[in-house]
Amino acid sequence: MLMRFFRGLVDICWPKNCLICKKAIGDASVDNVVCLECWSKVKRNSPPFCHFCGRHLEKKNLSKGLCPACIRKQPYFDRAFSPCQYDGVIKELIHAFKYKGKDYLGTTLSRPMVEFIHEYSIPMELIDCIIPVPLHKTRLREREFNQAYILSKCIATQFNKKILHNKLLRLRYTRPQVELLPRQRLENVRESFHARKQSSLKSKNILLVDDVLTTGQTASWAAYALKRAGANIVFVLTIAN
Ligand SMILES: [Zn+2]
Ligand SMILES: [Zn+2]
Repeated sequence: MLMRFFRGLVDICWPKNCLICKKAIGDASVDNVVCLECWSKVKRNSPPFCHFCGRHLEKKNLSKGLCPACIRKQPYFDRAFSPCQYDGVIKELIHAFKYKGKDYLGTTLSRPMVEFIHEYSIPMELIDCIIPVPLHKTRLREREFNQAYILSKCIATQFNKKILHNKLLRLRYTRPQVELLPRQRLENVRESFHARKQSSLKSKNILLVDDVLTTGQTASWAAYALKRAGANIVFVLTIAN
């Protein structure tokens, strides 16, 4: 914990080099961590979006409004939103955020999420509370923080929402989805969540927050648990997909 604090302090106060290209950052940067040139290379998702998972829709799928994956299996959440493509600069930043203990990157990484909400008029007025996708307690011990919680705090502050913490639990220690083959991913997170104190979730419209939407299975099963506990609408917001 202390090491992480000092690492963060050094990163924030010291001669600034861009986390991505390693060149010295001049006066203009995003939060003093990424140079503007690298930030401009972040690949944004553009419409049309799949009505469920929020991925960019190819022309051939336009008439159905859904991507092939969502046609095959409809997710349990109502709608997912991701401002960026999980690639290049954003992928590197998310990796540093999650695996190199750079929790302060949450501020930078939540920026595209906030912008996206404004740009596409996501109806935040409908949302009763924000719930971060939880980590299993073993993984939380390894990583020391839940990246989804840090992002949730940034979003909650911007839109004056409360975070419901510890209502959604991760029951099984699952392997990271990125390590698995597509077929394994579907089964990996199946029913691995449980929502407790059901009365606090009853008829609530929830914004579920995570860092990345890979297959959408994690978010879908988390939404499944929330809906079984009585949740009404479950939207999902991630940095990238
Ligand atoms: Zn750079
Ligand atoms: Zn889809």
